[in-house]
Amino acid sequence: MTNRVEELEKLIAHHAHLYYNEETALSDDEFDALTDELKKLSPKSLALAKVGAKVSNTVWPEVKHESSMGSLLKVQTIEEFLDWAKKTGADQFCWSEKLDGSSLALKYEGKEFVQGLSRGDGITGSDISPNILKTAYFPKTLGFKSEATNGPTVWVRAEAIMQKADFEKKYASKIDEESGRTFKNPRNTAAGMIRRLTGTGCGDLGAVAYNVEGESYKFTTQALKFWWLQEAGFFTPQWGTGTAEEIVEVYRKYLQSEREACPFEIDGLVVCVNDLDLQERLGIVDNRPKGQRAFKFPSLEVETTLLAVVWQTGRSGRITPIAEIEPTDVGGVTISRVMLNNIDFIRCLNLGLGSKVMLRRANDVIPEIARGLTKGRKIEEPTSCPCCLSPVTKDGAYLICLSSDCSAQIIGHLLNYLRVLDVKGFGESTIAYLHQTGKLSQLPDFYKLKVEDFESEVMGKKLLAEFESKAREIALPTFVDALGIHGVGEHLTILVMAEFPNLHIMRTQATKEKLETISGIGPELAHAFISGLITRSSVIDELLKHVKLAELRVKVQATGDACKGWIACMTGFRSDEMTFFIESQGGTIASSMNKSVTHLIAKDTSGSSSKLTKAREKGLVVLSRFEIEEMM
Ligand SMILES: [Zn+2]
Repeated sequence: MTNRVEELEKLIAHHAHLYYNEETALSDDEFDALTDELKKLSPKSLALAKVGAKVSNTVWPEVKHESSMGSLLKVQTIEEFLDWAKKTGADQFCWSEKLDGSSLALKYEGKEFVQGLSRGDGITGSDISPNILKTAYFPKTLGFKSEATNGPTVWVRAEAIMQKADFEKKYASKIDEESGRTFKNPRNTAAGMIRRLTGTGCGDLGAVAYNVEGESYKFTTQALKFWWLQEAGFFTPQWGTGTAEEIVEVYRKYLQSEREACPFEIDGLVVCVNDLDLQERLGIVDNRPKGQRAFKFPSLEVETTLLAVVWQTGRSGRITPIAEIEPTDVGGVTISRVMLNNIDFIRCLNLGLGSKVMLRRANDVIPEIARGLTKGRKIEEPTSCPCCLSPVTKDGAYLICLSSDCSAQIIGHLLNYLRVLDVKGFGESTIAYLHQTGKLSQLPDFYKLKVEDFESEVMGKKLLAEFESKAREIALPTFVDALGIHGVGEHLTILVMAEFPNLHIMRTQATKEKLETISGIGPELAHAFISGLITRSSVIDELLKHVKLAELRVKVQATGDACKGWIACMTGFRSDEMTFFIESQGGTIASSMNKSVTHLIAKDTSGSSSKLTKAREKGLVVLSRFEIEEMM
């Protein structure tokens, strides 16, 4: 028993530290389960007192919350929920989706946003206002239609979240260049990003508001708070009102389909007594209101056994442990292999060979081991690359194979090119065969493959036709992504294109220093981008003999407002530089003279072309190319 107490204390301290330093391995529920267990075994344990007490990342200014940000009491089953609902004596409840993100307190004075705090330990948070201002659908000014509701100070409670689709598209299984860790799920990514000092990625987060507090507002119901938030311009979670039985129906619908369909992660419903007077009379226990409950969804967790750990070399040379587990069904999917990141992760979860583990489908998609439940035999790190047997090197907690002849890396690199270009049909075994027979070792070799190089003619014909259809004309961001530069993908390339619109300009004019001035690009990414293009220089030159880079117009991020509101159309000429200038000044370029055009830019305004005449008749602003060039 004492051993378990010690173990729990260690685990809790470890995870509390991770949590307050931007990286979470456990969900709140799992963490609560640990503390609940410890509370039972050793109620006076110091580890319990320390939970939530330390914010060691103190670079943001710390600010005390005006009213503490507590958590909610939970109900896990319909019976528990109905039981609670009955005890409250209320007949109307207000429900809303329970967001699984990172909590924020937003302060508005008059209509203006003045300060945004992270939750921190609930008593003191960090002032992360600059990051909050970068988030999507966030009203800097409260947008009321009637002046009457333009009140004094209010606090809005919100959750910083990342949409599931954005996570999948931009972050899933990618390495965070700032922390060196793999982006794990939308929740962790959002929690880490919103507290980043550089502010990178905050534009991919949204602030979703769910509560408002202010002395001068006398809300009578919880529902009115949601109306207020919506009128003020906040994005809110789905919400509604109803009797306890009606809310059970809503809950059931969420279990069936709504949860999956929700654009962001939710882990239950928040249900409040709708009448706020009654809510207040019900009181508070342990800083948690009795008139509110988190009505949790059952988690997708199953116990299984860890059978073995195999180590696999990836295309970057990183050697990753993969758990082989007893095939187990989690929420309708059978899982037998799970990625484990690195040896620290294995130790942190207390995993051993033969140990019982809790398997979870996080984000409802990616399976992961949540924690070890029993001890097992020690898991050892390999001393040589499992593929090429070269000695391994350590990079932080990760193992790396530095050999340039490592076929796992070469094959991984080749497969990545096909994956990014969406070329289907080439399996790992086909690539391995072509590599072993000496036909394929570098990306440009793909373009020299012949039907007879393949194991069978039928296969060769089919695969080459597929390759030809996808790999000859490639959009620039996709092309750069396909080069397999560590940390460099489509999203980053699009950011770079705002300043350096084509590959030639990127290669000749972009420098690390210039890239760092682009919003969203930090020193690490800038370095990765520049050095990646340089080290792959000969491969790029070789590829460009076979590849046509498709034209792609990317909207430039505005840096000024000289052309704000313009919808400009060029006539008689085309200029990429001018397009970029106008867009960088807040304007938009129309490809043809359509109804929405406000400015016509002509090569020569003295002419009498039908376009010019028409534009003048319609009262559009007609400018000459020269006039814009003057502005540039
Ligand atoms: Zn190797």
